[in-house]
Amino acid sequence: MALSIGIDVGGTKIAGGVFDEGGNALREGRVESPAEDSEAIEKAIVGLIEQLRGDHEVTAVGVSAAGFVDAERSSIMFAPNLAWRDVPLRADLEERLGLPVVVENDGNAAAWGEFVVGAAEDADDLLMVTVGTGVGGGIVLDGQLVRGTFGIAAEIGHLRMVPGGHLCGCGLRGCLEQYASGTALVRDARAAASRDGVDTVLLDKADGDPKAITGPMVTEAAQAGDPLAMDLFAELGRWLGEGIASLVAVLDPGVVVIGGGVGAAGDILLDPVRTAFAENLTGRENRPTAEIRLATLGNRAGMIGAANLARV
Ligand SMILES: [Zn+2]
Repeated sequence: MALSIGIDVGGTKIAGGVFDEGGNALREGRVESPAEDSEAIEKAIVGLIEQLRGDHEVTAVGVSAAGFVDAERSSIMFAPNLAWRDVPLRADLEERLGLPVVVENDGNAAAWGEFVVGAAEDADDLLMVTVGTGVGGGIVLDGQLVRGTFGIAAEIGHLRMVPGGHLCGCGLRGCLEQYASGTALVRDARAAASRDGVDTVLLDKADGDPKAITGPMVTEAAQAGDPLAMDLFAELGRWLGEGIASLVAVLDPGVVVIGGGVGAAGDILLDPVRTAFAENLTGRENRPTAEIRLATLGNRAGMIGAANLARV
C-alpha cells in the first residue's frame, strides 16, 4: 500500500505523520516551529520528515501551512504567522528530500482531509469552516478542491458581515473572523466579565481577572451551563450560521463541516449555528438544505489532507 507523509506547519509546532490511503497513521511526530527564521523552518521540516520516513516506503510529501499558496501548489506567497515571503518551498524540499512534494493552504488541506476520510466522506460537495484563532476553511465542488485562479480561494474568514465593523488583521473591517473566531469569543468574554455586578463562573476560573479568561475557559463554562458563557457561544454561533447561509446560497454544498479548536465545543456551538443558518438561508422553505456536521479528524485534518493530496 502506498504511503505518504503529511506535514502541518504551525506558528509554534510542526506536526507530521506517515499515512496510508485510508488516512491511518503508521507513525506521527512533532517538533518546535522556529517561526521567525525561514531557513530554520525548512530545516525543521526536513528533519521531521527524515525522522518519520525511517524505513517506510514513502512516495510523496504534502505540506499544509497557514498562508497564501500559489495555484501551482509550489510557493508560499505570504504566511501571517511565519517568516515566509515568496518561498519556493516545493522546489527546496524536493531537492533536499528526493521526493515529490505538494504545498497546500491549511484550510484547503483540512477540508480535503474531512472530504476524503472524515466527516464529509459520503459527500460530493463540501464547505468546511474552521473556527480557531481565526476563521478559515476550504471548498470542495464536484470532488475537486476549489483553489481559484491565484490559489487563494475560500478565505471564508474574510467574508464581510458588518460594513464598518471590527477592524480585522487583514486590514479591512467587519470580517466574519472578527465575530466568529476563538479570538472574538475571548475578546467578548473579557469585555462581558468586566461589567459591574456580572455573575459568571468565568471570573472564578480566571482568579477574578477578566483579562486572564481564555477560550477553553469559556468552552468549559458554557458546557457547565454558565449563562454568560452560553450567551457568548449563542452569539458566535449566530454569526457563523449567518455567514454559512450566505456561502451556501452561492455554493449549494450537500454538507457543511465545522472544525477547529472552537468546534470542540460541540452542540453548544452547533445548535445556534444550525438555527441561524435555517433562519438566514435564502428560499429556505422551498429547497433542500445542507447538513451541518462537526469535523471528525480534529487538528490532524490538515496533515491527513496534505498527505492525501500529495498522492493525487
Ligand atoms: Zn479580514
